[in-house]
Amino acid sequence: MDDTRSRPVPQGPVPLTGNGRTPPPAVPRSDDFRDHLATADARGRRIWLYPRKPQGRYTRARRIVSVFLLAFLFAGPFLTINGNPVLMINVVERRFSVLGQVFWPQDAAILALGLLLFFTAIAVFTAAFGRLWCGWTCPQTVFMEMVFRPIEYWIEGDAPEQRALNAAPWTARKLFKKVTKHVIFLALSFLIGNTFLAYILGGRAWWALVTDDPRRHLTGLGFMLLFTLVFYGVFARFREQACTFICPYGRFQSVLLDEHSIVVAYDYKRGERRGRWRRDQSPAQRRAAGLGDCIDCRRCVEVCPTGIDIRNGTQMECVNCTACMDACDAVMDRLGLPRGLIRYASLNGIERGERLRITPRMVLYTCVLLGLLTALGFILATRSPVDVTVLRAPGSLFQKTPEGRISNLYQMKIVNKTGQPMPVELNLLEPTGRLTVFGAPLVVPAGDLIQTSVLVELEPGQLHKSPMEIRIAVQHDGRTLQTIRTSFLGPVSPTRP
Ligand code: SF4
Ligand code: SF4
Repeated sequence: MDDTRSRPVPQGPVPLTGNGRTPPPAVPRSDDFRDHLATADARGRRIWLYPRKPQGRYTRARRIVSVFLLAFLFAGPFLTINGNPVLMINVVERRFSVLGQVFWPQDAAILALGLLLFFTAIAVFTAAFGRLWCGWTCPQTVFMEMVFRPIEYWIEGDAPEQRALNAAPWTARKLFKKVTKHVIFLALSFLIGNTFLAYILGGRAWWALVTDDPRRHLTGLGFMLLFTLVFYGVFARFREQACTFICPYGRFQSVLLDEHSIVVAYDYKRGERRGRWRRDQSPAQRRAAGLGDCIDCRRCVEVCPTGIDIRNGTQMECVNCTACMDACDAVMDRLGLPRGLIRYASLNGIERGERLRITPRMVLYTCVLLGLLTALGFILATRSPVDVTVLRAPGSLFQKTPEGRISNLYQMKIVNKTGQPMPVELNLLEPTGRLTVFGAPLVVPAGDLIQTSVLVELEPGQLHKSPMEIRIAVQHDGRTLQTIRTSFLGPVSPTRP
């Protein structure tokens, strides 16, 4: 969304006076908000934010949502569907599980389609509902605002107390508060780091890592420490900078949002011209004096975890956390004015009172989304539960058996994509011959793979040419799961075609 269009002019249109001079603005202009970051000073040094504790109906609702999300997030690595993890991103073994479906590198097309689907869904969702994801469900916001920040409020108090504590000289009381806070932060980061590791390794492998002899898992333990320190750094120090500087989604919102998108927005038509509240001035007198409902108390700015003033319009830093909506609603309640001066609304909703509209862009995105969904559904439905690769045994061409047959040795890799152990049989379909599996019977463990050697023997008379194509069926319970084509080598007489 073009911020310029969404940004309200703080004083409303500034009229020219009869002599052509522009009258001085009634409130300080904030036009330069685009020229600097709220969290950096003129020399580029970080300005540490002390957002006030938010309170209100949206904060309460987000807290409830967060409890469910956190419960799901921590339980995630240990929840299974059909014996497979609900979500596992095992980049080490290149094994992935989404909603109990196991994916291997061979399923790269499905993963690519899934990612395309994910990004299209984000585009559709953002075009309609802005950054609802960031405010309500993003793990960074949920952990920061619903876990770490409340602990900070609990130990150090609200923003003014925190500011005073940081400015105060080091005393036993300050040391105690700081150490307690950071020890709790580290412990939480350890917990989050381990959960992250469990998503990567899978719940079972993570459990083995923490219960086994540590000397056998030095790499895993090293990553555990690394993740702990990274999460501690993010939540104790880096904080809102992660959303402003690292997260690409914040950058994308500029192109994904338009004037129909629902965002956290300040109703500048109702709020401007802002001016201090005077007890001796009734709302009617205030309106007659050309003042809007914004009393310029800056409560909305004080609670903002990214330090911005939403009255300047939609900004990249805004994570739609709703804190300013709650803060402003509380002010409106105290003044006896209607809530919603800052609310979920689109630019058109503010300017023209329009409700959420289905735009051609949203229709187009949705069509693309449905097309991708159909393609993904089809691929998943027709996907073989096993994946088989056959390679000729290294260094071998063919051999002649004592009985005079020609044999070829292969190495076979069978991947079981299901959540159940799978007994499989291999049968030579064409031509008729003998197939011997070393290490039979073959049982492929759930969501795992086995490697085996296979010997194929043919009568010399069956060899029309070399190499010659043969077909092997991979069967389970008498059902053919996959048919493999590979080449068979042998001595071919020069007189044969
Ligand atoms: S909290 Fe509401 S009234 Fe106060 S400055 Fe913000 S928008 Fe204006
Ligand atoms: S402007 Fe409001 S919604 Fe946006 S980040 Fe700040 S407090 Fe949250």
